[in-house]
Amino acid sequence: MDDAPTRTRCHWLRDEDGLEILIQMCCGAAIGGPAECTCNVPESRIEAAERGRAEAEAHVLRLMDERDRRLHEQAGIWGRNKRLRQRIEELETLLAGTTS
Ligand SMILES: [Zn+2]
Repeated sequence: MDDAPTRTRCHWLRDEDGLEILIQMCCGAAIGGPAECTCNVPESRIEAAERGRAEAEAHVLRLMDERDRRLHEQAGIWGRNKRLRQRIEELETLLAGTTS
C-alpha cells in the first residue's frame, strides 16, 4: 500500500475543475499554515500558496492605509471648518460690539 504516507502528510489534490488544493494533514500546517508544514510537500507550491496569501494581506493593508489617509484628510477638513465657525462667531461678537 502506497497510500499511507499520502493520508498522513500534506498533499496536493486536483479537483474536477483542475484546481489544485492543498490538503493539510500535519500539525504544523494546521496551526501555522503551509509555511509551517513539516512534510515533504513540494515547496514551490507551498510558496505559491503563501505568496497568494501575502499578496492578499498586502492588498488589505493598502486598503487600510487608504482608508486611514482619507479619515485623516476628513479630520483636517472638519478641523478647518470648526476654526472658521469660531472665527465667524468672534467677528460677529466684535461686530455686535461696534454697532451697539
Ligand atoms: Zn504538512
